[in-house]
Amino acid sequence: SWSSSDSFISTDSAGESAEPGGPYRVVLLGASGVGKTAFANIFAGAADSMDSDDCELCGEVCEKEIEVDGEPATLTLLDIWDAETDNKCAQEPCMQTGDAYLLLYSVTDRASFLRASELRISLRCVRPAQHTPIILVGNKCDLVRRREVSVSEGRACAAVFDCKFIETSAAMQHNVWEAFHGMVRQLRLRRESKEA
Ligand code: GDP
Repeated sequence: SWSSSDSFISTDSAGESAEPGGPYRVVLLGASGVGKTAFANIFAGAADSMDSDDCELCGEVCEKEIEVDGEPATLTLLDIWDAETDNKCAQEPCMQTGDAYLLLYSVTDRASFLRASELRISLRCVRPAQHTPIILVGNKCDLVRRREVSVSEGRACAAVFDCKFIETSAAMQHNVWEAFHGMVRQLRLRRESKEA
């Protein structure tokens, strides 16, 4: 799913969303099947969006204004990650383009949890000096009996990797907006610390 979004992968402005309120570029990362598309669809179909027609290339790249803590913020959500490729050269631009990352795994799939750790390490290599906001997201928490990764393992992993953590269920629409809102809060904090 690269072709139509190539223009969004220019790295010129990566990490430099200086405008108050964005637009902030948030990239969805994670193994295949963890729920990235489901997240993108929830974001795209949001009831509090201004107008769903604003949503360009919905599903892959979607920009909209949301309100967080009483203030507007514009998020550009990029669901462009090709989880199937092993080609590091293909993945690197994707890892450079975000102001922030939602790093997803499925709590029902331990391999996806390990993959999330690898991706976190790759992100650190690609962007060594930058304090890029990252939220580790354990999705599919509705599938209680199929759980393979505990909440405490998720939390511990996030602590090791110095990122925030949340468990979500895209299927139940549980905590998905909390994740997007948390992302905006982190981006604002980072901006304030830069300005200070
Ligand atoms: P992607 O490959 O990361 O984009 O994953 P998808 O969004 O396509 O999701 C893969 C499958 O998992 C689909 O069948 C989704 O309906 C399902 N799925 C995604 N999120 C959840 C969730 O929170 N709970 C459950 N039960 N299923 C989910």
